[in-house]
Amino acid sequence: MTSNSLVELDRAHLVHPVASYRGHERAGVRVLKSAKGAIVTDATGHSMIDGFAGLWCVNAGYGVESIVEAAAKQMRELPYATGYFSLGSESAIRLAAELADRAPGDLNHVYFTLGGSDAVDSTVRFVRYYQHARGTPQKDQFISLASGYHGSSTVGAGLTALPLFHAGFGLPFDWQHKIPSHYAYRNPVGSDPAAIIAASVAALRAKVEEIGPDRVAAFYAEPIQGSGGVLVPPDGWMKAMREVCRELDILFVADEVITGFGRTGPLFACTDEGIVPDLMTTAKGLTSGYVPMGAVFLSDHVYNTIADGAGESAVGHGYTYSAHPVSAAVGLEVLRLYEAGLLENGRRAGARLMAGLRSLSDHPLVGDVRGRGMLAAIELVTDKARKTPLPAAADPSHRIFDRAWDNGLVIRAFATGILGYAPPLCCTDADIDGIIERTRMTLDQTL
Ligand code: PLP
Repeated sequence: MTSNSLVELDRAHLVHPVASYRGHERAGVRVLKSAKGAIVTDATGHSMIDGFAGLWCVNAGYGVESIVEAAAKQMRELPYATGYFSLGSESAIRLAAELADRAPGDLNHVYFTLGGSDAVDSTVRFVRYYQHARGTPQKDQFISLASGYHGSSTVGAGLTALPLFHAGFGLPFDWQHKIPSHYAYRNPVGSDPAAIIAASVAALRAKVEEIGPDRVAAFYAEPIQGSGGVLVPPDGWMKAMREVCRELDILFVADEVITGFGRTGPLFACTDEGIVPDLMTTAKGLTSGYVPMGAVFLSDHVYNTIADGAGESAVGHGYTYSAHPVSAAVGLEVLRLYEAGLLENGRRAGARLMAGLRSLSDHPLVGDVRGRGMLAAIELVTDKARKTPLPAAADPSHRIFDRAWDNGLVIRAFATGILGYAPPLCCTDADIDGIIERTRMTLDQTL
């Protein structure tokens, strides 16, 4: 099939996630055809360094035979087993145990989902069940951060703060409340870490007071805000928020869908701060994007409260594909790879990436460089002193993305003029250097 006829078929039939339907029909789809390591090739034969690991997920890189083999072996042996009604598969049980063994603190109980949105959605249901089970059903309000992204399920989209995910849907999100982000580059309290932490703690306290001290069920935060523009909190921020949640009797949910599985260095970013959330969501790097899977981690006290509350009755939450054995087999192999050198390589490549991006600070368009490990961003401005954002007419999410693509680089170009980087952890030095060179080339063409 020629790529032209694919474009026509796509235009006529495929509804794309998070796309302007009309804009997409005009522009046409870009079809990716094959990939190896950190390099992806489109249907015209144009090769690029994937600076975004698909969608922050292909941590192991493309074309890893042992992952393909693990999936094939599981498919041959047992392609499906339900987790319902106390049934199960060996791969799912083993993966849950291996993950619990490595998770922070007492996050010993793992509930598998199909991805990140339904992982977040599941936490909302678990949090509500928990609050009912412990006799505080009035705790039914949720707080999250401005610029936060927690997926696009009907419930989880409420926790997401990005207006695009609310506009036009008319869904009631009155149970959902936001406090300002820690966004250091554009924070009204300035960039001093202590001031930012104090402001976030004060904002959470004030919001709880406003809603009603006995009404708040949970607070959600990403260890680094991803889709909001790769916003990195100051060291100590997560710890401070975790502590205030404990003091105010609010569950703390860490959304590690992007940061989990080596993206910031360790297996889980919560480890960076030595904190143990009450619940934790993961997906993406769990299977390195080869097959869909997410995982919710529940702490002992959350799990036991729910279990005791339900007694002999079933907890009515589950999907046909929860704990899918093929996804679990892939997860086990990916976990093995992380520990056989992938995490280590990611840390080394991450240091090179951050140094490379910092070397772009001399460019007239680069206002801010931020990140941790293999998760980073540069923020473009037209005036560094005034931090003037790129004008909307510059259309960064299309024009800069297109230029980078033509230059052989896939990045995430946010409409706000922020360029996001989340390359596969398998990147070689040459891949990282290529990302930096091609970014500079793209910026020069943007001047
Ligand atoms: N939570 C966070 C922090 C995310 O970044 C994402 C997706 O990017 C999600 C949840 C939703 O995950 P998914 O797209 O797998 O549904």
